[in-house]
Amino acid sequence: MAQSAKKDYYEILGVPRNATQEEIKKAYRRLARKYHPDFNKDPSAQEKFKEINEAYQVLSDPEKRRLYDQYGHAAFSSQGGEGFSQEVFSTNIGDILEEVFKGFGFEDIFERATRERRRAYRRPTKGEDIYYTAQITLEEAFKGTTLRIPLVREISCDVCQGRGYDLSKGEKVCPTCGGRGEVYQRQFFITISQTCPTCGGEGVIRELCSKCKGKGSIPVREELTVRIPAGVDNGSKILFEGKGHAGKNGGPYGDLYVIVKVLPHRVFERKGDNLYVDVNVKFTEAVLGTEIEVPTLSGESIKVKVPAGTKEGDVIRVPEQGMPKLRGGGRGDLFVRVHIDVPKLSLMDRVFGNGKKIRQILEELDKLLPEPTRIREKET
Ligand SMILES: [Zn+2]
Ligand SMILES: [Zn+2]
Repeated sequence: MAQSAKKDYYEILGVPRNATQEEIKKAYRRLARKYHPDFNKDPSAQEKFKEINEAYQVLSDPEKRRLYDQYGHAAFSSQGGEGFSQEVFSTNIGDILEEVFKGFGFEDIFERATRERRRAYRRPTKGEDIYYTAQITLEEAFKGTTLRIPLVREISCDVCQGRGYDLSKGEKVCPTCGGRGEVYQRQFFITISQTCPTCGGEGVIRELCSKCKGKGSIPVREELTVRIPAGVDNGSKILFEGKGHAGKNGGPYGDLYVIVKVLPHRVFERKGDNLYVDVNVKFTEAVLGTEIEVPTLSGESIKVKVPAGTKEGDVIRVPEQGMPKLRGGGRGDLFVRVHIDVPKLSLMDRVFGNGKKIRQILEELDKLLPEPTRIREKET
């Protein structure tokens, strides 16, 4: 898969895996300045810039970073989806540039106050995340599965492109405050400033979009198709970037987290990547040894050797027959717990009519067996 060819995010930013948020931010700024297409004309710079931003988006977000540390690139397997992650990066570029320029010290202190105030109103903010709990069977967790998830999502309004106002009429500088966002009142010797009542402090006035009424987004009923990777465990959180609600003021979409709940299985019990199955053997089989058929989650059964002298509760390990590993490939092991079936002679008599015969043989056998040590001592 193409995923395995993806470079490690820590490597891209050149930071250790235990780097602090501050170190990550520093490394990102340094690299973003070096490779920004406006400053670096090398044709490979653009690709590199994209890579740096992708790595930074994940590592600067504690939740995403935790998922990445746990599952690697598989945590963000939005492959097969509608390719929202592209959009996330492109719409977020304004934010990134702002970061870069701040780093340069380009900001003019005198304009700063007004700009900052306006930005507070129109700052592009990321949309809300959606959390969805999906129940899947252990078989589906084994093979990986495709889920159709019904959602009501806020998507960016197409009429105003998410801005919330009538684009054809545009923005007008507020006539009351002249764009400052504040009005001043002189009282004796002091001047008091107040938020402009006409524009609410934004400095501009606009006509609300007729479709979204200024919200910038509209609710849409959608069915998302998401791919759940093989090997997911109960409680696994899978991130689908950009599949949450629309952002505000041109900000990126929020993310969708699918929380996986794996239903209990009739036969298998899971512990990490390993599977456990309980089997019954006849007590003669336990004594003599045998070979039994054991089911696996892949559908075909396998032959497992029960060695002679197996005791109640003994566990036989079958390597590589457990769950697929999310990270690093391969599979866990299958553990077969052996239980010894003790026949009831009365039942044998009723069902098979051979209770007497079995009793006879056993009584003979009993005479041959030595007395065991009756009292078991605790192992220390
Ligand atoms: Zn105003
Ligand atoms: Zn609109």
